[in-house]
Amino acid sequence: MLRNDRYYTFKAAEYAYTYSIRTYSTYIHSNLLIEGIRKKVASLERSGWKILFSWVKAHAGTYGNELADRLAKEAARSEGTNYEFTRIPKSTLYQEAEEETRQKWQRERTTSHKAAATKHYFPTVRDRLRTKINLTPKMTAVLTGHGMTRAYLQRFHLSEKATCSCGHENQTMDHLLFHCTNTSIQREILKQQISPWPASKQDLISKYQKEFSAFVESIDFELLLQSAQ
Ligand SMILES: [Zn+2]
Repeated sequence: MLRNDRYYTFKAAEYAYTYSIRTYSTYIHSNLLIEGIRKKVASLERSGWKILFSWVKAHAGTYGNELADRLAKEAARSEGTNYEFTRIPKSTLYQEAEEETRQKWQRERTTSHKAAATKHYFPTVRDRLRTKINLTPKMTAVLTGHGMTRAYLQRFHLSEKATCSCGHENQTMDHLLFHCTNTSIQREILKQQISPWPASKQDLISKYQKEFSAFVESIDFELLLQSAQ
């Protein structure tokens, strides 16, 4: 029985890891399984077992493996694997999972060239998580740099040219926000509320979010996309 138990535990971990590590709750689940295995291995070793990990051909009629498969599938289906919750406060698990997720997000973000625009507003994932923000369609476009400008649409061949209707330069999000003569009236209002101007993007979203949001919402991006020239 001890042997079957051992197989079962390893197989369950394998299934949990392979099929369900992607989501939050199952992340916690698989962590619990792995913790369970770690304890099981330690306890078996204390009682004289030597534990080896090895590959076993699946569906080849190996008794222990077939049994492990079946038990692992049952285990994966059942909701009753949260026994560890009785010993570790749930809040701790969520905190650990959150911290791990945040670190993973940060690692991916640091090494990725994506989200370049967003990084100027939120240099770190922690900054983003700390900032409460009303994500309207316009604010989303501003923060991501995706959509609502000719430069963006031209990249996807949805606009004939990238040049702004003011005629000065390509209509990028930065151009519309900080340089375009078409938005200078709105920008003047913003400038009067912020000193010193220009503020960094990080400050615009953290210290001056109310003013910056009002500025962003006052811009008619649709009109600027369409107007002649
Ligand atoms: Zn312009």
